[in-house]
Amino acid sequence: MDGATVVTRFAPSPTGRLHLGSAHSALFAERCAREAGGRFLVRIEDIDRARCRPEHAAAMLEDLAWLGLAWDGPVRVQSEHSDEYAAALETLRARDLLYPCFCTRTDIAREIAAIGGAPHGADGPVYPGTCRAMAESERRARIAAGEPHAFRLDIAAALASVTRPLLCEEVGEGVFEADPAALFGDVVLARKDTPASYHLCATHDDALQGVTLVTRGDDLKPAVHLHRLLQALMGWPVPRWRHHALLAGPDGRRLAKRDGSLAITALREAGHSPAEVRAMAGFPDKA
Ligand code: GLU
Repeated sequence: MDGATVVTRFAPSPTGRLHLGSAHSALFAERCAREAGGRFLVRIEDIDRARCRPEHAAAMLEDLAWLGLAWDGPVRVQSEHSDEYAAALETLRARDLLYPCFCTRTDIAREIAAIGGAPHGADGPVYPGTCRAMAESERRARIAAGEPHAFRLDIAAALASVTRPLLCEEVGEGVFEADPAALFGDVVLARKDTPASYHLCATHDDALQGVTLVTRGDDLKPAVHLHRLLQALMGWPVPRWRHHALLAGPDGRRLAKRDGSLAITALREAGHSPAEVRAMAGFPDKA
């Protein structure tokens, strides 16, 4: 493959039906690839088995095909590759960059209140580090006793182990330096019920699949800061990013997934053509 080939992907989580907002993301990713003569991939991010359903994944692919989207190569389905994410996690654990965290949400809220607050990150207050300094013997005993735990990235240790600055390029905006400590702190990379978090799985797959341009809605823009660090830690290539504004409805407000009438299946059933739905999703056919 030519080193300069643009490879994009649409990576939905099948938690519901494909709706106009996600169709916009898919069409955006495909357009970026096609305009550059590159490749467009589809990946199903269903690692969170509690929220994702295989029937939604199948329906999403059908809707994408109905919309006229053609992806290159087979669809990668994350739930079929749990062992690969577990191996990536193990690489970080073996380098002492992860620690088990036994805190519940309530524990964290209580600790934050006790210390008088915590800085706000991309996903809420930054974890105050309660379990970071726990003795190894206590960790082992609590894990052996079957106590539920997550694995957190020791962000300070992680940053100390990579070459900085961690530069990122947002197409159209330029280059900036990632600041994952401020935005994520000691982020959870695995929970008891999921083998690895979205962040690790998505960056793992973008590297494996040779994605060179990550496109997605700007609600996920802060994730770049963490993804760039994970890429440095794992020695993965660094893509460029291009985020798009979330599709807005006629009232100017962001479209919400929960509005069932915006599901592509509902629009199909109401008699709209693929071209009409592409136009509703912000990609009218060129005259
Ligand atoms: N699976 C994510 C979502 O549906 C998108 C991840 C990404 O594009 O990096 O929100």
